Amino acid sequence: MSDYKLGLEYALQEDQNDELKTYRSQFHIPKDKQGNPWIYMTGNSLGLQPKQTKAYVNQELEDWANFGVEGHLEAKNPWLTYHEFLTESMAKVVGAKPIEVIVMNTLTANLHFMMVSFYKPTKTRYKILIESDAFPSDKYAVESQLRHHGFDDKEGLVLWKPRKGKELLNYEDLESILEEHGNDIALIMIGGVNYYTGQFFDLKRITELGHKHGCNVGFDCAHGAGNVALNLHDSGADFAVWCTYKYLNSGPGSLAGCFIHERHAHNKDLNRFTGWWSHNKQTRFNMRDEFDQLPGAEGWQLSNPPILSMAAIKASLDMFNEVGIDKLITKSKKLTGYFEFLLNQLGEDSIKIITPINPNERGCQLSIQVKNADKTLHNKLTEIGIISDWREPDVIRCAPVPLYNSFEDVFRLVEKLKAILNG
Ligand SMILES: *Cc1c(COP(=O)(O)O)cnc(C)c1O
Repeated sequence: MSDYKLGLEYALQEDQNDELKTYRSQFHIPKDKQGNPWIYMTGNSLGLQPKQTKAYVNQELEDWANFGVEGHLEAKNPWLTYHEFLTESMAKVVGAKPIEVIVMNTLTANLHFMMVSFYKPTKTRYKILIESDAFPSDKYAVESQLRHHGFDDKEGLVLWKPRKGKELLNYEDLESILEEHGNDIALIMIGGVNYYTGQFFDLKRITELGHKHGCNVGFDCAHGAGNVALNLHDSGADFAVWCTYKYLNSGPGSLAGCFIHERHAHNKDLNRFTGWWSHNKQTRFNMRDEFDQLPGAEGWQLSNPPILSMAAIKASLDMFNEVGIDKLITKSKKLTGYFEFLLNQLGEDSIKIITPINPNERGCQLSIQVKNADKTLHNKLTEIGIISDWREPDVIRCAPVPLYNSFEDVFRLVEKLKAILNG
């Protein structure tokens, strides 16, 4: 966008005009010792706490105190069906139908459970394709699945790599890999938004390509949920998983989300691990019945869920629901575009933004590569109250989050960065 302007005044004016400006005050923004709010750019790692979260969690603590086990039915939000209170809003956030979405377990655990169902290797088709710079947990999970099925975890892994000297991945390269090895690949598992570069992939394109070659396709959307329009249903992906503690502001280690496409909702032949929470709700407590699979994503649950964690998720999703993902993305594009504009105005050849330039191929995060930098740069930023994320060898990741970051935050961040680089 060309109408961005330099100077603090412009940033302050944009904050004044911001349709979502009231939301910042609904979050706890951590402060330094002098009481100045941090410039918090790590919502891609741990989102900030909405002020209303405490009341939601307290409600459940109180109901537990007052009702004990009866809270399953007597609590204000009965625990027995608590996960159902999250489904519709979560489905909206990720662009799915309610039957396709469940909040359960943690992220890497869900990834494994999805691979139980959607990684079905045979002697000849057993490989798993991932992006070469996948999040370590995803890579480890995938490798362990290969070993679990008796395959070599190096030979069985196919990497989608950037071209020499590049950081971003290229769809033509994926096409060539599939032309060549498509018949060997059982599963394609990609980070929907790459955690390192911030590249938001075309989920539909990858899914169609994978399906054309007979592969199942799943995405880890930890960096996508609450950040970009995932449109999971329309993507056609077999499954997706994500966490709720990054852009979804639901607290450290909070429960994760899981998507299983509607076309699998009634397929009882899919292999899966089950528990009493995957069993028919009507007869679950008879405790003696033959297993009777719940349809849809709910049928992948195992356990009765941690309500305190779900209460924090509900507090956050209620806010997302109120704002709507479209408005959020509109502001996000403007704010991140402004960030990019200011960085480009620095005229520094020591920095390079490795995140895609096209706003439709990224979320709010920009990954900035700094020539000859080491972690002291990050430490200097932290010392002056700018919380960013450092990735070896030379990348700072900053994610201005549309719900609570301001244009002023972005302005001050770039000013400080400039001062340090010229330093
Ligand atoms: C944050 C993140 C994880 C972390 O996994 P947990 O099981 O929640 O610890 C895994 N994969 C990706 C892509 C992530 O961004």
